[in-house]
Amino acid sequence: MTSPYRIEGPALISFSGGRTSAFMLHEIIKAHGGQLPDDVVVAFANTGKEREETLRFVFECGSRWGVLIHWLQWLPRKPGFEEVGYNSAARNGEPFRDLIDRKQRPPNHMQRYCTEHLKVRTLMAFAASLGWTSYLEVIGLRYDEGHRILKGLANAEKHGRRNSYPLSKAKVRKADVMEFWASQPFDLGLKPWEGNCDLCFLKGRRIRERIIRDQPDAVDWWITQETTPRGGKGVTGWFDKDISFAALADYVRRSPLLFDEIGDDEHDVECGLHCGGGE
Ligand code: SF4
Repeated sequence: MTSPYRIEGPALISFSGGRTSAFMLHEIIKAHGGQLPDDVVVAFANTGKEREETLRFVFECGSRWGVLIHWLQWLPRKPGFEEVGYNSAARNGEPFRDLIDRKQRPPNHMQRYCTEHLKVRTLMAFAASLGWTSYLEVIGLRYDEGHRILKGLANAEKHGRRNSYPLSKAKVRKADVMEFWASQPFDLGLKPWEGNCDLCFLKGRRIRERIIRDQPDAVDWWITQETTPRGGKGVTGWFDKDISFAALADYVRRSPLLFDEIGDDEHDVECGLHCGGGE
């Protein structure tokens, strides 16, 4: 039987910078004898709000496993993306801020345009720059993430795209991924809820409170985006319709002894996949 990790190009491996996605990349490289075919390409789309640990992890996966990972960032002009590297990658939310400036208000649950532009369209623009019109998108969703796979398949079908889920085909579950990383000489070094944009508004309120408690400075960027007037009418807006980041930070400051017991809801998949993507 052919290995689920043997990929036929042209194919774009979407690397989220999380453990699951990195495990998939490792298995794909192994299945190809240590070197990917020229038309199987790996890309990581940086929003500028990723944790430093994520950037270091992406860099380490590339250098330790000898695979070229294209670091991409959204650009508001053609070709729609720029290629950066570990040193030059945005770390202060610049691509995300530029996108909000263009849209003139922060994204929210109803208008999740950040995923669509910073991740999905950026990767598509990169594939187009390779001259690809039709290609396979290889996505790191596990067997135990069936609902996300169904969403992804429906989304792909709607937009005439082709998706592949090798981890699901190989029946890989979360425990398998964690077991793999426990045996490796390096790791992501983040808690399960700390992946993707540090205070992504799609993370539950308790998770965001916990992150603000652990890293109080992280909230400043989000408060700035909510309070910066944009456009001719000086529009401001919240990411979460129920509470501003300033109010959330204030609540955390006033509740210093509150212990937040949170589950290990995982945010180490590509953000467009855990939230379903789309505008
Ligand atoms: S992680 Fe959250 S805030 Fe960041 S691009 Fe994805 S949906 Fe938007």
